[in-house]
Amino acid sequence: MGLEIYIDGKFVPEEEAKVSVFDHGLLYGDGLFEGIRVYNREVFMLEAHLKRLYNGAKVIRLEIPLSPEELGKKVCETVKLNGISDGYVRLVVTRGKGDLGLSPSKTVDPNVIIIASTIKIYPDEVYQNGLKLVTVSTRRNNPDSLSPQIKSLNYLNHILAHLEVLHAGADEGLVLNDSGYVTECVVDNFFVVLDGAVITPPTNSGALNGITRLVVFELCKDLGIEIREEQLSLVECYTADECFLTGTAAEIAPVTYLDDRPVGVDGTPGPVTVKLMNAFKEFTKTHGTPID
Ligand code: PMP
Repeated sequence: MGLEIYIDGKFVPEEEAKVSVFDHGLLYGDGLFEGIRVYNREVFMLEAHLKRLYNGAKVIRLEIPLSPEELGKKVCETVKLNGISDGYVRLVVTRGKGDLGLSPSKTVDPNVIIIASTIKIYPDEVYQNGLKLVTVSTRRNNPDSLSPQIKSLNYLNHILAHLEVLHAGADEGLVLNDSGYVTECVVDNFFVVLDGAVITPPTNSGALNGITRLVVFELCKDLGIEIREEQLSLVECYTADECFLTGTAAEIAPVTYLDDRPVGVDGTPGPVTVKLMNAFKEFTKTHGTPID
């Protein structure tokens, strides 16, 4: 059975869920999105995702035609309607229909789209054996040009980086900023463990302030693990005891090879990473919004 998609204020079968060729989301990547997990009929960290979306909308001066509460309810309704117990929601807001010029002043009504489906980006063994990462030559957008905190519909920087990952036969890529410091992965945040402390680049390095990243900060606090935001060089990553990445789709995943170097002593997931992965599983049980 096909999906029921929320678009233009109503639910329609996926074959009928279409946007105009004049939508500035298509013509200019003018819009925003969120990827959200559903665990056991609860929408995980819904409020945090909505907050990031509405913050992005404020920055790009896009008026979402629903309040955060109304949109949250629509997300839950979409999940429920599609019978999703464990899955993934793609929430998209486009600038809406306009003319061929780029000015948002000529567009009408932003378009809200909600797709509830399932996702599996890595096979199960990755969570036991770890991921292979490669450093890509594509640098992350400079925050002065395009803030990574705006989760915009223009992901070409990430796609260019991902093409390099594919070419290298790796699972994910490590992306540097203009100064050569590590920012994050192509579509995930990046962490190292050094002498028992968890370290991740600050968001002003060019990293998105990921929701799963925020969860890792909370988990570390609860578990009494030191966590710091610090500039990371590639050498520090190569010599780290452990590496892992985080993202809504990837969750917490160990990184065991970085540019063909085994991470830690033997290229196996480290104890801090495993502890956080287990704690994350528990955390997902208590931080969801019920769809009913
Ligand atoms: N960085 C980038 C560039 C992303 O697109 C994402 C989301 N896929 C992340 C990090 C992880 O963020 P979150 O934990 O909110 O999914």
